[in-house]
Amino acid sequence: MITIKCPKCVAPIEIDAGTKFTKCPYCDTQIYIDRSGAGFYYIIDFTLNKDAAIGTFKRWASGPSKVKNLDKAASITNIKKMFFPTYFFRRHVDGIEKIIIEPAQSTTLPGLHRLKIPAGDFQIFDSSYNIDDAELMEPDIEMLHYLDSLPGSGKEQALVYFPIWIIEYSYKGTNYKAVIDASSSEVFASSFPTRSSASYLAITAGGFVAFFIEGALAVKYPVIAIALMGVTALAVFLTSYKITKEAA
Ligand SMILES: [Zn+2]
Repeated sequence: MITIKCPKCVAPIEIDAGTKFTKCPYCDTQIYIDRSGAGFYYIIDFTLNKDAAIGTFKRWASGPSKVKNLDKAASITNIKKMFFPTYFFRRHVDGIEKIIIEPAQSTTLPGLHRLKIPAGDFQIFDSSYNIDDAELMEPDIEMLHYLDSLPGSGKEQALVYFPIWIIEYSYKGTNYKAVIDASSSEVFASSFPTRSSASYLAITAGGFVAFFIEGALAVKYPVIAIALMGVTALAVFLTSYKITKEAA
């Protein structure tokens, strides 16, 4: 057992050596312990409520890279309100201050490796902070895991909880997930129904029909049919090329 001081109420707290995350039994403040001592948890407010999160999702789903009408056709199957733990590092790198945010929980969710600290300050996460119905995700990665490989020299580090909405939805029998950063309104998704795949299908089908008609025409008017086939092939190629460029 070792004794640390609560950074809030200064009460001595006994913990097992190696404990990284604990809660002060006197004032309920969340505390993390690294080699520089005991530190606070910080937390960022939700600026998007559930309705606003759904609105943000629908706007994202109606974007140009998504399949047409995804905003209407996607059926939301689950919405989760979570606080996701990250490590905040303020570093001096070649004379420039750099902020680095890394996940404190291993995750396969998209976007959580590139969260950005919002303009406003974050608050100390103590017993006075009400997380309402949000679920608090526990850190399972130690800060030391990142500390030794970060560039420059350290100025400050902290554990910061980010507010996120996880929206699960299905489209034509396939399930997808989107993560919304509830402080910046940014939407992250590793996969979603894309417009290009639907367009490719339409072009392929259209091209096939055109070739079929032209093939039939070739029996009587071979020269005209071959010219038309050339035009069709060029149209299919150019349209596919345009879609590929737009999707990139
Ligand atoms: Zn305390």
